[in-house]
Amino acid sequence: MCTAGNSDEIIILSDDEEEEDKENDLSCLIVELLTPVCVSDRVSSSSIQDEDVVVMFSRGADVLPHARHDCPVHPFVATEKETGAPVAKNQLICDQCFCYICDKLASLCVVWCHSGVCHCNSHLRSNFWNNVRYVHLVGDLAAFNLALSEIDSHLRRAGTEFSWLLHSTPSK
Ligand SMILES: [Zn+2]
Ligand SMILES: [Zn+2]
Repeated sequence: MCTAGNSDEIIILSDDEEEEDKENDLSCLIVELLTPVCVSDRVSSSSIQDEDVVVMFSRGADVLPHARHDCPVHPFVATEKETGAPVAKNQLICDQCFCYICDKLASLCVVWCHSGVCHCNSHLRSNFWNNVRYVHLVGDLAAFNLALSEIDSHLRRAGTEFSWLLHSTPSK
């Protein structure tokens, strides 16, 4: 019961606590794969998700943007010129599927399954669809040229009217 002696004691707490904190603060866990994962394994297991684990990075088998007819996820059935309705399951798309005609994500194509135009059946080995694609691209260019010439004529008319106003304004 001698309190005077206690004042000489030095208790070191900080070092151990810091070590513990570092060990507990594992916000990132690096897991090494012991067995290679193939694409089909990854796809089929994606439906079973552990909510505590978020996959931030995955090596290999990344799906790059592609035309729908080249999709590695959904099989494509090629026909020469079917525009009435999706052939087989051509309407199915993955996140990286592009419309061959619109040159944008298939999910943004407004006529993907539109009866009569049905872009989901388009592919590059069909003369019909290549022609549709060509007309679509040229159509955009033609519209752009028209817009330019329209702006040009509006500007010229505005310029003429402005100079007419300047000259016709009665001077006080
Ligand atoms: Zn795809
Ligand atoms: Zn389209």
